[in-house]
Amino acid sequence: MTQANNNAILSLFKEADALLQGHFKLTSGKHSEWYFEKIRLIENPAALDRIVDLLVDRIRSEKKAYDYVISPAYGAITIGFLTALKLSKRFAFTQWVEKKMAFRPGWSGLEPGMTAIVVEDILTTGGSIQEVIACLKEKGIAVAGIYVLVDRTGGAVTIDGQPVGSLLALKVAAFDPEDCPLCRAGVPLVKPGASDKK
Ligand SMILES: [Zn+2]
Repeated sequence: MTQANNNAILSLFKEADALLQGHFKLTSGKHSEWYFEKIRLIENPAALDRIVDLLVDRIRSEKKAYDYVISPAYGAITIGFLTALKLSKRFAFTQWVEKKMAFRPGWSGLEPGMTAIVVEDILTTGGSIQEVIACLKEKGIAVAGIYVLVDRTGGAVTIDGQPVGSLLALKVAAFDPEDCPLCRAGVPLVKPGASDKK
């Protein structure tokens, strides 16, 4: 991934208001200069369409064979669906059914011996991707690739022995409040979700 590509993707996220720059209080209590508001991607279909175009280019360039695109509910459904549409593949999603990810009954085409790629919005710990892979294995479906829009680990993670293809690998620095350069600079602190973007 070149810096120019990274910049283009960053601008698309910023355009959709999905990547906010400022001074944010994270749920961990730490402070950060950047915040991903992924619901903005769903609120801005035209911007998401252009972001998914880039993801589709990336997936196509790897020339893999697969039958399905699979995403975990709910945030990634639109992303996986658009990806499948552009790649002319079938789409299905997993969802939480009592504390475990599962395919609800009703999907008609998921058969043993098939192959799928997994598409997720933002990789933080990889927990939901691991759950999706477990669901696929249970059905005898092989995983041909894992793709995310944003990898917040900075590209450090493999899941189930596979690398994660990302549009943007970005390790976001988080500061303890007493050691935060943004606090020192007097930038107003915002708690995402509790107030509008600043
Ligand atoms: Zn701070």
